[in-house]
Amino acid sequence: MAAETFQLFIDGDWVEPSKGGYAIVNPATEAVVAEAPEAGVDQVNDAVAAARAAFPAWSRRPAAERAEMLDRLADAFERRIPDVVPVVQAETGATMRVASTLQVLQCAVRFRTYAKLAMQNHDIPLPPSPMPNTALASGGLIGALAARQPVGVVACITPYNFPLTNMAGKVAPALAMGNTVVVKPAPQDPLAVLRFAEAVQEAGLPPGVFNIVTGSGAEAGQALVEADIDMVSFTGSTPVGQRIAETAGRGMKRLLLELGGKGAAVVFDDGDVAGAVAGIGSTWSFHSGQICTAPTRVIAHRAVHDELVEKLAGYASYLKVGDPLADDTVVGPVISEVQRDRIEALLETGRQDGAEFVAGGNRPEIGTGYYVAPTLLTGVKNEWRVAQEEFFGPVVVVETFDDEDEAVALANGTPFGLYDYVWSGDTVRGYRVARQLRSGNVGINTVQRNHEAPFGGFKQSGVGRDGGVFGLHAYSELQSIVWPS
Ligand code: NAD
Repeated sequence: MAAETFQLFIDGDWVEPSKGGYAIVNPATEAVVAEAPEAGVDQVNDAVAAARAAFPAWSRRPAAERAEMLDRLADAFERRIPDVVPVVQAETGATMRVASTLQVLQCAVRFRTYAKLAMQNHDIPLPPSPMPNTALASGGLIGALAARQPVGVVACITPYNFPLTNMAGKVAPALAMGNTVVVKPAPQDPLAVLRFAEAVQEAGLPPGVFNIVTGSGAEAGQALVEADIDMVSFTGSTPVGQRIAETAGRGMKRLLLELGGKGAAVVFDDGDVAGAVAGIGSTWSFHSGQICTAPTRVIAHRAVHDELVEKLAGYASYLKVGDPLADDTVVGPVISEVQRDRIEALLETGRQDGAEFVAGGNRPEIGTGYYVAPTLLTGVKNEWRVAQEEFFGPVVVVETFDDEDEAVALANGTPFGLYDYVWSGDTVRGYRVARQLRSGNVGINTVQRNHEAPFGGFKQSGVGRDGGVFGLHAYSELQSIVWPS
């Protein structure tokens, strides 16, 4: 049977891709799920032109109307969830527990959240300022407002780990603020995002407000960054983010960059070891460690090191790896053969540097699929590649420290600064250490999130913040309006 084929979504219509299609592969079965559309550069430009044409009317609509449409969109998407779950599961290889919850529900939640936030006035009133007579103008009391304006046409370029949720985290606030968008999902899994466009049509968004272009390589994304857009909102790896920033800088395009991470998990000798194990173990048990915020780099106080390692090894060995559709599977495949090979090659550098493999290290014996066993490396030195580079897979490395300053130095000793963690029974110490970590986010004794908090990275983990109301503001320009009182 021929694979189902998908089309691009441009200017409110389904469009035949000018460069044909490419296969989307199920990471567990290695079978072709469907053919995704391969957009030509001309079609990327068509999508941008459609978004440009739609911008004036969309941005001038009353916020309440935009909010109503985003709510309708959330409704239309929610009705499709039973059809979308199998698609997103097959293309990402996520376990059913992840596919039926975080892969889809957060998408609808984000549209509803930003529909609500769009109803608030986000302008900032300023107190009147007495200004003296100058050669420019006569003095007086001058009033001012910092008004939030949409940026314009936003390119939303997303990674493969949570295709719908990542897309919604960009598109919902961008549209709520009055921007129009061109979405470029990751090559590995764009199908559910294309299905989302059916909901966009049903909800009656005006043509051009939301467009999708896809492709198997970097070409479509690159063309989009070079096109006539005003802002790039990108989530993905640091090297690609750097390339995007160089290109976007030439056109002074606004940037929101959510990049890689190498989350340090500092565990003090008074920390709750069981709690730390459960938190750190999420690197294995949640979406095969394909999470930028995962606590992948344990920095353990020497006094708790052995107990922590023993318990982590126990946790890792307990997790069932295999078919993501099986009820008892916890660790499914990683996204692709390329990614599996990359993880294995990085593990090999750890082996050569002298790390001890306390768990994992060998490819699981499962007939088909791109599996990596939950892996735990100890005796790791901070300068080794396994401590410095992202695995983006189910791998945890352990380093050791003796005092607080050393812990902070080790935690800060990578180019990344996205999400760090501290486990300590002394909340004053937890807070003190958190304030010294060069990281956009710090969890004290938890891996839980607060979705209202700003999210983003220090150092090479990114530029800018989204999350909650900060997400809405990220898609705005401040315009100062002044007047005599
Ligand atoms: P990636 O950087 O390889 O690709 C991300 C997107 O960029 C894809 O859509 C890709 O097609 C596109 N792209 C590639 N080259 C491009 C170019 N030259 N110009 C424009 N677009 C281009 O990332 P990935 O492998 O899909 O995802 C994993 C990475 O994403 C990890 O580094 C992870 O840490 C990061 N990530 C970060 C966050 C965060 O919020 N900070 C969240 C999830 C993932």
